[in-house]
Amino acid sequence: MTTTVYKAPYIVAYQGGGHRILRDGCVVVTNDRVTHVGPSYDGPADEVVDCPDRIITPGLISTHAHIAESPIDKSLQEDIGRRVFWQTGLIEVLPTIVKSMRPEDVEACVDYSMLELVRTGCTTVFAMDGASEYVADAVERTGIRAYIGDMYRSGAWRTTDGTRVTYTWDEEAGRAGLQRAIKTVESLDGRADGRIRGCLAPAQVDTCTEELLRASKEASDSLGAPLSLHASQSIVEFIEMNQRHGKTPIEWLESIGFLGPRTILGHAIVVAGSSYANYPGDDLALLANSGTSVAYNAWCFGRRGIVLETYPEYLRRGVNVCLGTDTAPQSMIESLRWTAVLGKVTGRNAEASTARDVFDSATLRAATALGRDDLGRIAPDAKADLLFWHTDSLFMTPVRDPIRTLVYAAQAEDLASVMVDGRWVMQDGTVRGISERDVLARLQRSAASVWERWPDADWAGRRLDELCPQTYPDFTE
Ligand SMILES: [Zn+2]
Repeated sequence: MTTTVYKAPYIVAYQGGGHRILRDGCVVVTNDRVTHVGPSYDGPADEVVDCPDRIITPGLISTHAHIAESPIDKSLQEDIGRRVFWQTGLIEVLPTIVKSMRPEDVEACVDYSMLELVRTGCTTVFAMDGASEYVADAVERTGIRAYIGDMYRSGAWRTTDGTRVTYTWDEEAGRAGLQRAIKTVESLDGRADGRIRGCLAPAQVDTCTEELLRASKEASDSLGAPLSLHASQSIVEFIEMNQRHGKTPIEWLESIGFLGPRTILGHAIVVAGSSYANYPGDDLALLANSGTSVAYNAWCFGRRGIVLETYPEYLRRGVNVCLGTDTAPQSMIESLRWTAVLGKVTGRNAEASTARDVFDSATLRAATALGRDDLGRIAPDAKADLLFWHTDSLFMTPVRDPIRTLVYAAQAEDLASVMVDGRWVMQDGTVRGISERDVLARLQRSAASVWERWPDADWAGRRLDELCPQTYPDFTE
């Protein structure tokens, strides 16, 4: 047993059911857990570490990530929105990216994602991809905490003419995908001293059959594994589900018993009662009453002019809204900031969503979604997943209210060190065991090859520049 005492001028400590600001206090870590937090500590310790220029906070939790693909979104998914698909990139852009990626591109993305997540304060990531073995190895090497699941589905959407969306079905592939996913959960659980756990990730509400979703829920209940699904993420999907069932996607999920405290819905933006759907109903009550969580990815939608209506309203109605990183950049700092700011903009009220709301969503509410009262807080018996922020760096100065400064001003460089399970994952800005230069070079090569191969995967054989023109035209001779 090793016990270390960390003393700092600011600690975000858990007390009485919520976070508190502890000034001039200490956090005591024994092996992988916090054993004490308070103004002082008189017990035995192997080491006392003075951190006079640090703010210690709990690690942040991303409840929605696709780490094997998202880095390719950068400079490709912004500034474009196809009105025939109501702005979503799901129909024309995402399938083309996925089709264009080779295994080495997937690996380059995963390795880059590890860096990006750690350097922006993510200590637990909910990763839904199709490369669970490589992801698990990368997570184990890096030292972060993860829920890992291979996505599966019974069908897929596509367009062959740029206007219509058609679904092709292979129900047997869906069933086989679930069986593989169950094996993945069983094989991952407990790996890396329990840092890695499995999750079930049927892909989307409109690409999974009722049978597959019911079986996924049963498996989630019997394995005790979190269950994720993309739902109410586009108007295309909302209309499709309404045409199939005469219900909203969330009403339909409720009717087949899919909702519940272990269920995390990705996005849940196009809901009954929202201006996007123009469809009467109360999906928020179904989410709140069933204890279902929502993973909100504010930037991913904000960049297409789409926003939760509204983040503070969901909270007020009792929906457990968590935050995710989803697309590029995969930054929990950006996720905190965009969620807070867009909540204010949609509420036309500076007090509509606050630093406290978003920090709770990225910590305590995420822990609730994962069924973990040992994450997202600095308290005795909680896992020692800690962030050490500078007090005196460019964007953190001046510090009065550290959480507000963090949410509205911090950049990745303001995060000094990251601890997960009592071990350093990043120290003084350097992520352990990763050559940043090498990871960046590999990602650049992979992204360039995806851009190059774009016409082979695009339904109309277009070059990427035709679908997504560069910001300024080329300089001419
Ligand atoms: Zn997603």
